[in-house]
Amino acid sequence: MMQTNEIEAIKSLLSTPKKIGIIPHRNPDGDAMGSTLGLYHILKQLQHEVVVIAPNEFPEFLAWLPESENIMIFERNIEQSRTFLEKCDLIFTLDFNALHRTGEAMEKVLETLTATSIMIDHHQFPDGYANYTFSDTSYGSTCQMIYDFIYQLGYENYINKTVATCLYTGIVTDSGSFRFPKTTSKTHQCVADLIEKGINNSEIHNLLFDNSSYNRLLLLGKALQNLKILDQYKTSYITLSQEELDAFGHQKGDTEGIVNYGLSINGIDFTAIFIENKEEGIIKISFRSQGDFDVNQFARKHFNGGGHINAAGGKSFATLDETVQQFIAILATEKK
Ligand code: 5GP
Ligand code: MN
Repeated sequence: MMQTNEIEAIKSLLSTPKKIGIIPHRNPDGDAMGSTLGLYHILKQLQHEVVVIAPNEFPEFLAWLPESENIMIFERNIEQSRTFLEKCDLIFTLDFNALHRTGEAMEKVLETLTATSIMIDHHQFPDGYANYTFSDTSYGSTCQMIYDFIYQLGYENYINKTVATCLYTGIVTDSGSFRFPKTTSKTHQCVADLIEKGINNSEIHNLLFDNSSYNRLLLLGKALQNLKILDQYKTSYITLSQEELDAFGHQKGDTEGIVNYGLSINGIDFTAIFIENKEEGIIKISFRSQGDFDVNQFARKHFNGGGHINAAGGKSFATLDETVQQFIAILATEKK
């Protein structure tokens, strides 16, 4: 929960019409999109001028989210985005905890802003850039934090079907459909309330998970063929080269969730997926673990990344093969 005096200060800021920017992290996922749009739909009802500004494109599988078409994409409209951001009274940064998670160009702009800033996020080790910080790693999603934040502000009557749909999306995606350990009775109480607000939870699930292209499934097949096991480290990993991605007409979001298959194997408690991105000149990596093995630490220490104890990401500037070789060498010391 946010402190009462902070809530009072934010409420007072919101008591007159404001220009507000809401920002998710780069490569926004279901939680980043759901939390920013959920808050957007609340603040619009309160008569504020609100724009969600995403650092880059969002994946197609989230394009059905209400008013996602009104999201400003920073990378596509740098000048327009900068102009709006510079006029903002208030900036919300949601589902990330360090400005560099928006990418270099946007980070530079955000650093110059004088607007009041509010961070709401559930990742470990938040940076101290915001005027108000609601950071709590016990939450399974930023969407659930937004839900509590709205209640704390006393705006719960504004949680209509549209808001609830956005928030449910982040809760269901970040919790792996309610199976990850941070799913609590509070999560289910929150979701029960969202269902009472009129969401069609089964339909949302369909839109998110049963809406795949044929190519995406073939790509999943390829990824599973590439799955390797390192028994002595209870570890598995998957690679996808740019060539393999291209062969299946890869679209943004197509690889979402594939990493989890590596953890579904009996006896495996750590997994990684290495995805080549020739355009950015990096290997994008996702890490997942079960139990005590801290992948946030692992990603921070070895792969320029971060995240949570059981789910993190990072990147490498070496080739795909070299990156995998480095990974295996690191396992020898980090995972006995
Ligand atoms: P995913 O593997 O699904 O992309 O990300 C898993 C978690 O790690 C998410 O919470 C995400 O925000 C975080 N994460 C992913 N990539 C990075 C990264 O490059 N840097 C940091 N700091 N966190 C990341
Ligand atoms: Mn999240």
